[in-house]
Formats: sequence, structure tokens, C-alpha cells
Amino acid sequence: MTSGNYQSPWMNEEVRTLRKSVREFIQEQFVPQQARWRQQRRPDAEAWMSAGATGLLLPDVPEAYGGGGGTFAHEAVVLEELARAGVQFGAIIQSIVAHYILAYGSEEQKRKWLPRMARGELVGAIAMSEPGAGSDLQSIKASAHRDGDHYVVNGSKTFITNAWYASLICLAVKTDAKVAGAKGISLVIVETKDLAGYQVGSSLDKVGMHAQDTCELFFNEVRIPASNLLGPAEGKGFFQMMEQLPYERLAVGVSAVAMAEEAVAVTTKYAQERTAFGKALFDFQNTRFKLAECKTEAHIGRVFLDNCIERFIAGRLDEITTAMAKYWLTDCQCRIVDECVQLHGGYGYMAEYPIARMWTDSRVQRICAGPNEIMKELVACSL
Ligand SMILES: Cc1cc2nc3c(=O)[nH]c(=O)nc-3n(C[C@H](O)[C@H](O)[C@H](O)COP(=O)(O)OP(=O)(O)OC[C@H]3O[C@@H](n4cnc5c(N)ncnc54)[C@H](O)[C@@H]3O)c2cc1C
Repeated sequence: MTSGNYQSPWMNEEVRTLRKSVREFIQEQFVPQQARWRQQRRPDAEAWMSAGATGLLLPDVPEAYGGGGGTFAHEAVVLEELARAGVQFGAIIQSIVAHYILAYGSEEQKRKWLPRMARGELVGAIAMSEPGAGSDLQSIKASAHRDGDHYVVNGSKTFITNAWYASLICLAVKTDAKVAGAKGISLVIVETKDLAGYQVGSSLDKVGMHAQDTCELFFNEVRIPASNLLGPAEGKGFFQMMEQLPYERLAVGVSAVAMAEEAVAVTTKYAQERTAFGKALFDFQNTRFKLAECKTEAHIGRVFLDNCIERFIAGRLDEITTAMAKYWLTDCQCRIVDECVQLHGGYGYMAEYPIARMWTDSRVQRICAGPNEIMKELVACSL
């Protein structure tokens, strides 16, 4: 729900067509399963292959590697449609992992993994956070030491999205324990099928995002080929993460705006239908003013986001602006959703109502992909 006749400047006929097919697919295949997915705390395994067959996975990866051959505009419509439908499905994590491989993988690595990720045969996860290191990624402890043609990996990761089904993990490890901080960190790709010493914990008991599988990962003397290192040399991992995190943060912004717009739409409808004191809730001036404020804020967010998307597509979006977008858009999302819960009254607190789920699902947006305080630190560094 955008304002008036506003059109995102990055929208074109091809992206509109993708939106239509993605929307139909999500409505037919995913929406009816949501209650069950939430209960089982993860999507169905088959969802990955059917998403791949529909073009939902890796829409902005070149066709030569099995992707959709589009731009971030294509990725954005997939994320928007998932957010609007209230479906948690880790397609964005799949894209994030693919972009690490695209940016730093060898030609052989790209050909080996990307087409299978696009088809949904491989499910990607990005594993940076550890029990003792989240915002402060320089202090990770998971290690990989070289032993002949292999790395031997030890350690654990937590809060990992897509972990339950993950068959291809982009893992942040210390490859040089003697070097403190950023320089000793590398990214390695772990193929988990039949991998000795690798274990996934049970799904973490989150307050929201119930349909998304988020688990701990454990590595005990896990041997992976040394050729699974991402990039030409060890020690580049931290800088690779810093280069790629803007993609993830912009994606968080996309889902934030889409959910905020959806919250205003469902709340407007609810307020028009529900009556109190003999009139529709919508006829109370406070309700109309609050919704007017929410719609205005969502629109400001939309215009800022669209500007970021255009600049990203043109290769001109900087890290500072992305940090601004991630922090402001997710704060804005949470403000709007919270206000919309208020306008629903008690029903806004009932899990069966979409607005209640938006409330619990949105909260993490201010924390993941780097807490908003870290975003403000990044912005402050530019002052
Ligand atoms: C549902 C969910 C999914 C996730 N998915 C993934 C995933 O797929 N892969 C992955 O690697 N991680 C994932 N994460 C982890 C997420 O990225 C981290 O939770 C986040 O980076 C914060 O790290 P932390 O939880 O260790 O918080 P901490 O680092 O302990 O920070 C706690 C709080 O302290 C404050 N703070 C910290 N540092 C600063 C600072 N420098 N200045 C000011 N304030 C500060 C902030 O308010 C911050 O929120 C996920 C988390 C959740 C909840």
C-alpha cells in the first residue's frame, strides 16, 4: 500500500511480472501452511524446492549461475511479497549467502554451489554470531586450523536463521588465533550433508518469527576441504562481512517498509469495520490522525528506501546511508506496528490477528543484521 499514485522508480514491467507470479505462489503455496509452519517452528523442507522452481530464490544472481538474472529490484519484490503475506521464509538468507559466493568465490565454487542454491537443492545459512559475540564480530572464537588439504573447525554459532535445513553454511571462523581482531577472521563454506562432528541444536524458542528456523550450530573437529575458503587468502573474512552487510541491511529495510505499509492497510480496514460507542473506530478523530501519521511515516520510509534501492542498483549506495536506512526504517516499522496494535484494542494482542504477529515479528528487526545502536555508531563516524 503506497501513497496515492506513487510508483517506486525502480519498478518496471519485468519486475511487476515477477511480483505477480511470486504473490500468486506465496498465496497458494505458503500462506495456507503458515499456522502449521509456526507450530513446527520451521517451513516444510519441500518449500525450498518449490520456491526454487518458481524463481523466488536468487532473483538477483546472474543466469549463468542459475539465478534470475535480475537486480536488487527483483530481490526487493520477493521480500516485499513475503513480508506483506506475513510469511517467514529465509529466501533473503539464501540470497545473502549467494552474494558472498558471487563476490569472493572462485569460478569453480560459483558453478558448484549457486545453481543448486537457485533450485533450492541447497539451503544457505550465514553463521557469524556466537554466544559470546554478536555485535562485536571481531571477538568470535570458532576456529579453523589448517591440516593438510583440510580445515578442522571447532566452536559454536547461535541465532542462525535457516539452520535446521542448512546444507551450505557461510561460516565466520578464526583461521589465525595468534592475530587479534579482524585480521585473523576468514569465511569458509561448509557443506553439511553427512558431515562428521557437525550438529544442529533444536529450534530456539523465539517470541516471534515462529515459522523461521533459528538454531544453534555446533562444530566438533569438523573437517572441510581447504578449497572451501572464500577469497584468495585467509584473513579477509571480517572485511568481506563489512562489504556484504549493507546488502543484508538494505534487505531488512525492504521488509520493514513492506510490513509498515501492510500494518497501516490492515488497521485502516479493521478501524472501518469495528464499531464502538455507536460508530466505526475510524470515525474517532484520534484513530484517523494516528493512521494519518503512520501512513505519512511509512511513505517517508518508502521514498528513502526507494532512493537507497536505486543507488544500490547503480552501485552507488554507501555503507553510511545503508546504516541510516536500516536503523530508521526498522525503528519506524516498530513505531507504526505498535500504534496499529493500539488501534486494534484487545484483538491486537491476539496471536490470530495479523497485527499481533507483526508486532512480535518486527521487534527483531532493530537487533539483527547489526543492532541499531551499531548503525548509529557507523553514521556517527561520518560526522
Ligand atoms: C531471530 C534472529 C535471527 C538471527 N539470524 C542470524 C543469522 O542468520 N546469522 C547470524 O550470524 N546471526 C543472526 N542473528 C544474530 C544477530 O545478528 C545478533 O543478535 C545481533 O548482531 C546482536 O548480537 P548479540 O545478540 O550478541 O547482542 P550483543 O552484541 O550482546 O548486544 C546487545 C545490545 O547491546 C547494545 N550494544 C552492543 N554493542 C554496542 C555498541 N558498540 N554501542 C552501543 N550499543 C551496543 C545494543 O543495544 C545491542 O542490541 C539473529 C538473531 C535473531 C534474534
